[in-house]
Amino acid sequence: MKILVTGGAGFIGSALIRHIIKNSNHEVVNIDKLTYAGNLANLTEVSNSERYIFERVDICDQTKMHKLFNIYAPDAVMHLAAESHVDRSIESPLNFIETNIIGTYSMLEASRSYWKKLIDTKKNIFRFHHISTDEVYGDLKSFDKPFTEKTPYDPSSPYSASKAGADHLVRAWGRTYNFPIIITNCSNNYGPYHFPEKLIPLVILNALSGKQLPIYGDGLQIRDWLYVEDHARALYEVITKSDIGKTYNIGGRNEVTNIDVVKNICDILDEVVPERLGSLNSFRDLITFIDDRPGHDKRYAIDATKIEQDLNWKPQETFESGLRKTITWFIKNESWWTNVLNGNYLSNNKGVL
Ligand code: NAD
Repeated sequence: MKILVTGGAGFIGSALIRHIIKNSNHEVVNIDKLTYAGNLANLTEVSNSERYIFERVDICDQTKMHKLFNIYAPDAVMHLAAESHVDRSIESPLNFIETNIIGTYSMLEASRSYWKKLIDTKKNIFRFHHISTDEVYGDLKSFDKPFTEKTPYDPSSPYSASKAGADHLVRAWGRTYNFPIIITNCSNNYGPYHFPEKLIPLVILNALSGKQLPIYGDGLQIRDWLYVEDHARALYEVITKSDIGKTYNIGGRNEVTNIDVVKNICDILDEVVPERLGSLNSFRDLITFIDDRPGHDKRYAIDATKIEQDLNWKPQETFESGLRKTITWFIKNESWWTNVLNGNYLSNNKGVL
């Protein structure tokens, strides 16, 4: 199978591509604009594979997207390209509307026009998989049950509203045009190659540099954490096994408050890099509380029963084991993150466009 992946140079997309290339014989065409969040260094482990090709293209450019479909003739699309950082969406929402909504529209139309002309055998296997977030469901009170696939949408931020809009478009294309769609909504990911503006890598890198560890508000916001490689395995199970039209929630059943996430990171760092402590007793001494994010969601939690039962998927990492792996990775890969922090990205284009 040839899979066209959008946003494959980002955090989750690169984990997905590494997983596919290392664990299957499928081919991957990675379409990525390489925004600040896209970095080809995330793919060095697999970029020499003959089954991998990269094209630097903006998904909003429909003309180029039509060309790419005709050139590569994919059997499936896994659409991850997005603006993904909530704080940036509050500062400047327009990029989120453009990439997450117009970009998804552009992907749907380029895919549909290619799919319509396929012969039946190819048409029957084609899938368009939109990779979305649990944030489309809004937030939960402490006593609410976790989100299921039937939870009504109630997004809070420009980011989650743009992803909800994209999900609605994808479902409408399924219903109106019989276009073969699948949607997955996943909880917060963490792991190697995570861009250091997000909570876990930011805290690890600030701590290693002796900088303060900022926590929004009271730090009691709850997130349901999933190790990124577990997400990549789930996405692979979905694209290779799911029926058309399905939605799956993906989550690790790891509800942790932000303050506990930060304390856990500090405790592991105290154990594994005591020499970095300097005059501190513990990395916990660096914790500092800052003003809360506007509209900050209180709690997310995913009920992953459906994907566990239908596709026999379960996460392999606990939060403790995944966090240790992540911290070890960041300690061993200082050159990756110093390059990212200094704005030195790998962006060579080997594609035809
Ligand atoms: P990311 O920000 O790390 O990566 C996004 C990638 O998309 C980057 O490589 C970027 O260059 C690319 N991109 C952005 N705009 C583009 C455009 N117009 N054309 C082509 N490429 C473009 O994001 P991520 O954390 O890897 O998330 C990937 C997907 O998973 C997103 O759709 C996100 O909404 C979803 N998701 C993320 C999480 C999470 O915890 N990170 C959880 C659930 C769902």
